[in-house]
Amino acid sequence: MNINNYRNVLDKLSPYRAKLIVVSKYRSFDEIETVKNWGQNIFGENRVQELIAKNELHGGNLEWHLIGSLQKNKVKAIIPIVKLIHSVDSLSLLQEINKQAEKHEVVQECLLQIKIAKEETKQGLLPSEVKAFLSDETFEQMKNIQIRGLMGMATNTEDSQQIRSEFKQLRILFDDIKQDYFSNNPLFSEISAGMSDDFPIALDEGSTLIRIGSLIFNP
Ligand SMILES: *Cc1c(COP(=O)(O)O)cnc(C)c1O
Repeated sequence: MNINNYRNVLDKLSPYRAKLIVVSKYRSFDEIETVKNWGQNIFGENRVQELIAKNELHGGNLEWHLIGSLQKNKVKAIIPIVKLIHSVDSLSLLQEINKQAEKHEVVQECLLQIKIAKEETKQGLLPSEVKAFLSDETFEQMKNIQIRGLMGMATNTEDSQQIRSEFKQLRILFDDIKQDYFSNNPLFSEISAGMSDDFPIALDEGSTLIRIGSLIFNP
């Protein structure tokens, strides 16, 4: 664990009013406790079982975000533990989240994950699919979800121009969607973008939530 890197990240963030999510996947209880003692309260996990287990270990005191892909049959288990689900990539997944949130009488905060990378392996909705998704009647009927914004992962490349253009594309889509679907909703306000290798570019391009793992825990 590297407190200097942690402080450097916070310093870089401060002019932007963005928040840091420390990605604690594969990290131990003690490692997370150490980072918590530095003052960090928000953690991200990419697997449901791990998120649930860690939430229990840490006595429910931390804010957990799910950043990895979510299977429908796991939704039940994470509501209402999870503060924000970053990885909604289908209408049917959102319907399941809505259904489980209704049972718990909560409104679940979600981000729509957008495929901005050129890599086949990266998941998410295509920019062209999002509007169809938001125009769907089924979407309008869901009362127990709150769409807080968009999430995207840039291509894993050394080419910073390409990374910048992908984050820019996410920001443009965000502005577009906000204007067309959420103009009266100040809660549609988040762009989750940027990881250890590319977060300075993401901040420049309008990210409000950055997700950092290896830089803080060491690879
Ligand atoms: C692992 C992971 C991160 C953090 O990546 P680092 O390069 O370790 O900072 C961020 N977002 C998602 C979705 C991840 O799976």
